[in-house]
Amino acid sequence: MFRLGHEKIKYIIEQLDRAIENHQIWFQNVNRSLACRVPCKPVDLLPDAHRNCEFGKWYYRLDDEILLRHDGFNAIEKEHHHMHNLATQLLIECQDTTVSKIDKYDQFSKSVERLRMQIMSLQRELQDSLFNVDSLTSARTRSGMLTELRRQHELVKRSAFTCSIAMMDFDHFKQINDKHGHQEGDMVLKSVIRYILDSIRPFDMVFRYGGEEFLLCLPGTDLITANCAVERLRSGIENLIISGITKTEMRITASFGMTALSNEIFIEESIHRADQALYHAKTTGRNRLIAWENMNAGLIET
Ligand code: GH3
Ligand code: MG
Ligand code: MG
Repeated sequence: MFRLGHEKIKYIIEQLDRAIENHQIWFQNVNRSLACRVPCKPVDLLPDAHRNCEFGKWYYRLDDEILLRHDGFNAIEKEHHHMHNLATQLLIECQDTTVSKIDKYDQFSKSVERLRMQIMSLQRELQDSLFNVDSLTSARTRSGMLTELRRQHELVKRSAFTCSIAMMDFDHFKQINDKHGHQEGDMVLKSVIRYILDSIRPFDMVFRYGGEEFLLCLPGTDLITANCAVERLRSGIENLIISGITKTEMRITASFGMTALSNEIFIEESIHRADQALYHAKTTGRNRLIAWENMNAGLIET
């Protein structure tokens, strides 16, 4: 799932569409040069031809960490480079009639096809993100939440796998809206969730549960480790200075209720436990993290 805004996702899908179209035209031109021995574009004979096509120019200027770290994008970069290299070699060898080019040509046309498939599967992944990522905050929407949590729960039931979840609700959020307006309130939600998404591991998940309430899912994390991770987030949020649209500086805190998934209870019950712990955090001062297990064992002072 891409942790990117909808506009950005749409823009990348468009660029990938253009990459497919441009390379189709490019492929026809290379074929024409190879078959009819007409001169190719000089740029296609250069060792860095892959950097000079429209897609290459776009790709090598990218500075978005999320995309640069994505396996799908890296695979495309590798295949694209390989494909241009093969084309350059074929175009050069084309001048020399003694070299047999059939094997290389077959490799080349397979590479063109592989690149097209890779781009299309990345586009499907991006389209999927458009439907499942909340347009304001870039958190996941609630629609796939239960399916994902059930998957984690199955792992917990079958092995020594651990997974913790935390419900988070912003403190006195109505006051932010009342004081600064709804748009600035939106900025607060957006900035804090951006901070959380940038702070957690790539496989951790944040779902927009509703309004200004979010559910965090930390796979492979027992309660003690989750306690440290979520406490770090809570304190990080407390220290954030959020710059609004009108450059107003705003601060916010959030309360958290946490629990570890258990093989003995349904996932719905675990969500309810996290919710109970969140309620306890709210009624005992806010800006707190409470684990249901500690609350239930009477370890939390009220
Ligand atoms: P508490 O500490 O008890 O949670 O106080 P609160 O004011 O945060 O109360 P509550 O959680 O019940 O209220 C949430 C408010 O958040 C109400 C709603 O208007 C506002 N809200 C929900 N979704 C959005 C949103 O997408 N944008 C903005 N700006 N406000 C939202
Ligand atoms: Mg609230
Ligand atoms: Mg709320």
